[in-house]
Amino acid sequence: MSYIDGYDIVIGLEIHAELKTKTKVFCSCKNEFGAQPNTNTCPVCTGMPGALPILNKRAVELAIKAGLSFGCDISRYSVFERKNYFYPDLSKAYQISQLVYPLCVGGKVELDSGKTIRLNRIHLEEDAGKLTHISKAVGTLVDYNRGGTPLIEMVTEPDFSSAEEVVEFLKKVRENLVFENIANCYMEEGGMRCDVNLSLKKKGTSELGIRTEMKNLNSFKSVQRAIEYEAKRQAEVLSGGGVVIQETRKWNDDKGKSTSMRTKEQAQDYRYFPDPDILALNISDEDIERVKDEMVMLPAKRREVYQEEYGLPLYDAQILTSSKYISDYFEKCLSLLNLPKKISNWIMVDLLKLIKEQE
Ligand code: ADP
Ligand code: MG
Ligand code: ZN
Repeated sequence: MSYIDGYDIVIGLEIHAELKTKTKVFCSCKNEFGAQPNTNTCPVCTGMPGALPILNKRAVELAIKAGLSFGCDISRYSVFERKNYFYPDLSKAYQISQLVYPLCVGGKVELDSGKTIRLNRIHLEEDAGKLTHISKAVGTLVDYNRGGTPLIEMVTEPDFSSAEEVVEFLKKVRENLVFENIANCYMEEGGMRCDVNLSLKKKGTSELGIRTEMKNLNSFKSVQRAIEYEAKRQAEVLSGGGVVIQETRKWNDDKGKSTSMRTKEQAQDYRYFPDPDILALNISDEDIERVKDEMVMLPAKRREVYQEEYGLPLYDAQILTSSKYISDYFEKCLSLLNLPKKISNWIMVDLLKLIKEQE
């Protein structure tokens, strides 16, 4: 990548994933995608005065499960806070999130190269509604169905140095969440979203540069393109003797470029404070054990076992773990007939071909 000669790329991610619960995180409205607009709403998730939130136990369990699947420490004590801001998709004018005491702390993901990406935290929060901009004449429509649905937010340390590492990481995160039945991660539906914080650092120095944050990235392809665009833009600014402005930028996938949304000076003060309507969350050993009991073997571990214990090539192990159904099916077959390579060939060649042909 010659266009950024002399600089190293530094990236940290904030990832949101929608949890697979039946109901929302603080009320009993349905958590479903694609319903008639504004049908899954109630006084709690639309923020009517006096309505009281009640925490969804399943959402907490799924967030703990996510934490365990990435090796986080699960906090015995965590706190929900109000993040205050006004925007039409947020009728309460605050989002319930976690700041000082998140549910999961630390954790990591290992890339194929052996490099470790450290997680800073995973916390539980609620989603906002959805705005659809129709036209200048008609205006914007708002659907509060998504408001109050449970999200986990994962924050990484600034450990990435290329777009390829970011995409590999996102795929590994999605794989864990899907295998553990925590989230569907359908990126087209906004089920998994990613903000990219990026700065450049002069090669050979250790001090981090000023970063920008890019929002609105809803496919692996747009993540890749947005990173390449932004690294190039910052390199041009810096090598021209300029300074990078700390700002939030919005990626436009059609135009293939990002534009400034707001600068640090315009950044809002969210006035976080503990939500007085929600008790602090105390997690016991039994809670954690209960979640552990429902966990499966993760795909990375399965690939290891398939190679080391069953003697399969990496290629086979990758295809067999491309979905949990196939992986479970392979293991079921293996329990009936101890011929791993034969079964693998049969699944990869005959069965997958048949599935593809017959859709
Ligand atoms: P904020 O509180 O402003 O959101 P954080 O310190 O929580 O800032 O960082 C948010 C994200 O930005 C994290 O993913 C972190 O790794 C990343 N980050 C922080 N500093 C830098 C930097 N200089 N370059 C690139 N990414 C960074
Ligand atoms: Mg941030
Ligand atoms: Zn509701």
